[in-house]
Amino acid sequence: MSKKLNILMISSEMVPFAKTGGLADVVGALPVHLKKMGHDVRVVIPNYSMIPHADYGITPFIDFMNVWMGTKEEYCRVHNTRIKNDVPVYLIEHDLFFNRWGIYHDSDMNDYIDNPKRFSFLAQAGLKLAENIDFKPDIVHVHDWQSALAAAYLKIWHWENPVLGSAASVLTIHNAAYRGIYPKTFYDYIGLGKENFNEESLEMFGAVDFLKGGIFYSDLVTTVSPSYGEDIKRPFNEFGLAPNLANKGKNFYGILNGVDYDEWSPEIDDNIAANFSKDKMLGKKKCKADLQKRFNLEVDETIPVIGAIGRFVDQKGFQNLAPAIRLALNDMRIQFVILGSGDSGLEHFYRELPSNCRGRAGSYIGYNNELSHIIEAGCDFFIMPSLYEPCGLNQMYSMKYGTLPIVRATGGLNDTVENYDEASGSGTGFKFFDSSPQAVYYTIGWAVSTYYDRKEHMKKMISAAMSMDFSWDKSAREYEKAYERAIENKMNYDKWPR
Ligand code: ADP
Repeated sequence: MSKKLNILMISSEMVPFAKTGGLADVVGALPVHLKKMGHDVRVVIPNYSMIPHADYGITPFIDFMNVWMGTKEEYCRVHNTRIKNDVPVYLIEHDLFFNRWGIYHDSDMNDYIDNPKRFSFLAQAGLKLAENIDFKPDIVHVHDWQSALAAAYLKIWHWENPVLGSAASVLTIHNAAYRGIYPKTFYDYIGLGKENFNEESLEMFGAVDFLKGGIFYSDLVTTVSPSYGEDIKRPFNEFGLAPNLANKGKNFYGILNGVDYDEWSPEIDDNIAANFSKDKMLGKKKCKADLQKRFNLEVDETIPVIGAIGRFVDQKGFQNLAPAIRLALNDMRIQFVILGSGDSGLEHFYRELPSNCRGRAGSYIGYNNELSHIIEAGCDFFIMPSLYEPCGLNQMYSMKYGTLPIVRATGGLNDTVENYDEASGSGTGFKFFDSSPQAVYYTIGWAVSTYYDRKEHMKKMISAAMSMDFSWDKSAREYEKAYERAIENKMNYDKWPR
């Protein structure tokens, strides 16, 4: 094993405490696996008021901690608990900032206007806590715009600090669409010095850009899949970070997220009607019948069922799926189930779909973890028509459950699914490239014709898909390498004359 590292993670989300997306899953799982590899990992998150302390064994830890921001001193308290593998988690209590209805926005979906204060404070408080408990990090690992500025604070404020001064920083971008761009009026509070407010680092056309600043000051930047890394580095892409990421050279690349197979394995999943495995597939038939019953579909094992799960936001492409699936349900002998919520127009469409296609379509509008397992296990195909996808988890779950993914070839979907080859029958799913309803429709047709006409190929692909290994152990080893490289970069940086 390589050298044992002290790793401080600062994040705005973490499973099981607070989650809005994949960021929370990564911060919940990665530290556990790094700890298993022998590293000392500590995680800092906000003490949001919705986190039930009693459920997670959270207890008071530090009664009073002061944190200097640019224009004032903030006071907070710290709580702590431990998760799997004894990883310590510290929760920063600052009622004015974190005692609210939501994580980033109110119940009307309006972003909290003081988000730049809340999260620059979190970044500084995370570093201050390390100092207070005398935890000398080799690595400070930050996630998305919310904690990105810790990398800037390290280089601008703490470079001579005996505890923090030698720490290298790694920033992971989970979704480049969320930049954290805020009016310059917040800059004094953030407190990173006028001389550092420029287009190269923290400024974006006169505003403060958290993610851009994080990219500039980090010793290494990662994102959650190699293809997404290439996408957001490509000149003139829609995220606007191409020059900044390209400037990082070899110090920006993608590491695929892992899957928590304790949660997502058909052999042990207790949410589903019957367990099954690659060599004992009988249970999958039971799961399919159970799914068909639950969604009022005709119970018939010969009809292929296509499933979809996700947030109804533009990114996920459900607006392209809607006309395609309507047509496919007319033209093909298939069934369709969907679980999700979000855009009200799409909610309406998918809610109404079953009444227009009785016995052939089912939907559940809302969030339901148990149903998501039931869909993964019971379907034959799982469709993800995303316009972009930093990593995506459902396609990896699908493969484990022998449910072949039909995906748009973008980001993590492109990296994890191997396209079907009609000549040899190899592959783990079906890919399309165009982001249009037509592409979705024709690829559904391709998958369905394979189901009916090339049964041997289906068997081969299902077996190949179920054998794929996207475990966290593999990803954690790649993060370990990234940390080592960041440390080297930091040592070289320290040698520069200033
Ligand atoms: P993102 O983080 O962009 O939402 P991912 O595919 O990385 O997309 O992860 C989404 C996770 O949330 C998956 O585990 C998915 O099954 C789950 N999920 C999304 N919507 C729902 C829902 N309505 N009900 C249950 N689980 C859901």
